Amino acid sequence: SFHKSKGQHILKNPLLVDSIVQKAGIKSTDVILEIGPGTGNLTKKLLEAGKMVIAVEVDPRMVLELQRRFQGTPLSNRLKVIQGDVLKTDLPYFDLCVANIPYQISSPLTFKLLSHQPAFRCAIIMFQREFAMRLVAQPGDKLYCRLTVNTQLQARVFHLLKVGKNNFRPPPKVDSSVVRIEPRKPRIEVKQKEWDGFLRICFNRKNKTLGSIFRQKTVLALLEKNYKTLQALNLSQGLVENKDAEIDFSRLGDSNEDETMEVDDDGADEEIEMEDGDAEGEPSEFKQKVLTVLKEGDFEDKRSSKLTLQEFLYLLSLFNKSGIHFS
Ligand code: SAM
Repeated sequence: SFHKSKGQHILKNPLLVDSIVQKAGIKSTDVILEIGPGTGNLTKKLLEAGKMVIAVEVDPRMVLELQRRFQGTPLSNRLKVIQGDVLKTDLPYFDLCVANIPYQISSPLTFKLLSHQPAFRCAIIMFQREFAMRLVAQPGDKLYCRLTVNTQLQARVFHLLKVGKNNFRPPPKVDSSVVRIEPRKPRIEVKQKEWDGFLRICFNRKNKTLGSIFRQKTVLALLEKNYKTLQALNLSQGLVENKDAEIDFSRLGDSNEDETMEVDDDGADEEIEMEDGDAEGEPSEFKQKVLTVLKEGDFEDKRSSKLTLQEFLYLLSLFNKSGIHFS
């Protein structure tokens, strides 16, 4: 009676459950968030180690089974069960998150946890192996992608355990890994839309050089539109410092058109081929401006697949300093 769509694969190996709990470094004062407790194999050990467990479970039958399991035991008054979809639930305060999650919510759940305030101490989460390897990838690794950089902007991530299919009932189709996610304290502050727009362009073709990515017509057109919109905005507010800035007012009407680039949104970087050569002929003034930024930071011949987080942050700051924006 398991629902495939809910990713219900119960951990049946007690040694593995012990090992996960041990690696979580639980203190007796900790409030622990568990996502998808299922029948409660992990929940039980979390209750024994921590002060309180808040368990979010979407399946009402599982919620019932969980409550029955602890009813009348001393553990029950330290367990709070929230019935609902974790992605739609306002999460309460917690110190740790420990969870064997349904893999289909991996990406949104990770970002939901990372944006939670105040930041938790760490999260110990079972993911599909490939997703886990994306989270911990380093520049130059095959799985290094936008998801990697976005996650590592907010947290340090460590691979803890490889877990084979047969530790679960029923066994899933894929292997799993347990990772440890530690939110950065303090946070690295970025403008979210700006950062996101920037990374989408950089990773649209992650193995091409940045020089060739930023020579693409669609990329230049998008950035130039942003540039002119901002110039116009600043001019109308009297904020333009460079009085000689040339504004082509005839083109500003374009700015409402939705010219968002087609890119993947799950962090798995497909190489999308766009019918889009380099902008030809005399390089425009704006193109020169963009290329000057790349040259200034020595980024022209580099590839996103090999850039560190610090290099991405630095390149974005150089663009922004030149008035080039991604949102
Ligand atoms: N933690 C248990 C264990 O390790 O044995 C069960 C893990 S099972 C992989 C995933 C659990 O998450 C299931 O109990 C499922 O009902 C629940 N679940 C699925 N989608 C969910 C969601 N969106 N919000 C909360 N729980 C969910």
